[in-house]
Amino acid sequence: MKLGLDGKVAVVTGAGSGIGAAISLQLGSEGGKVVVADLDADGARRVADEICAQGGKACAFTVDVSDAEAVKRLIDFAVQTYGGLHLAVNNAGLDGVRKTTGDYPLDQWRKLMSVNLDGAFYCMKYEIAAMLPRGGAIVNISSILGSVGLPLASAYTAAKHGVVGLTKAAAIEYARLGIRINAVGPGWIQTPLLSEHLEVTSSRRMEALQPMGRRGNPEEVAALVCFLLSEQASFITGSCHLVDGAYTAH
Ligand code: NAP
Repeated sequence: MKLGLDGKVAVVTGAGSGIGAAISLQLGSEGGKVVVADLDADGARRVADEICAQGGKACAFTVDVSDAEAVKRLIDFAVQTYGGLHLAVNNAGLDGVRKTTGDYPLDQWRKLMSVNLDGAFYCMKYEIAAMLPRGGAIVNISSILGSVGLPLASAYTAAKHGVVGLTKAAAIEYARLGIRINAVGPGWIQTPLLSEHLEVTSSRRMEALQPMGRRGNPEEVAALVCFLLSEQASFITGSCHLVDGAYTAH
């Protein structure tokens, strides 16, 4: 589908793998100029190269989103390289250890919050400043765990609920200033983030819990994100949109 994203400058974080890679590739195929940003420099370069090989425009940037100064450098780089910033997808995220809240290690809590919540805030802070002259659109990647809870995942659940709250507050602030801000809550999506943490038995258990009986794929998330970034979603801001195969419907 052509979404009118031709020539738009986009920053995508966590873009070297999984959902972020699929979003970057779709933005590239829609004519966007994509800054493919990730902690994993090789992953970011692979995705940027793939976009360029398909005739699109992209470059890679290495960033740790939990470092505010590094995020500022990323946004400055996008503006200097492509002359502005129109679109951003704050997608970088970690899964956490599986522990009850009472046993959750303090250092693991801090680490997860610093990437999954502080990182989204740092990105928005600098993206908004860069977008203000001309307007833009931002999508923050939350999770089904931004809507419901999961035992043994209190840090991840709290951070992803936080991303939804951050999205709503900022969307109201900038609603009259030409910046739309939404969140997307993916369900169980087949990416390295999940494969690394689930052994076969828990993987089968998770599959049985899915109303559609299958995992989603990153392209199914990317389609929603790119629609929300486009002008076709011009009256959509301040909301969280699930792409979860009805997981949260029961
Ligand atoms: P993924 O395949 O692991 O990709 C995440 C990418 O983010 C990786 O390349 C990772 O690099 C990078 N990253 C990690 N920490 C970073 C940091 N501090 N700064 C910059 N980049 C960093 O995961 P995914 O499944 O695509 O997840 C993408 C987003 O979707 C996350 O926010 C996740 O919470 C959310 N989500 C995923 C699912 C799912 O089922 N997969 C469901 C709901 C929500 P390294 O490999 O070097 O760590």
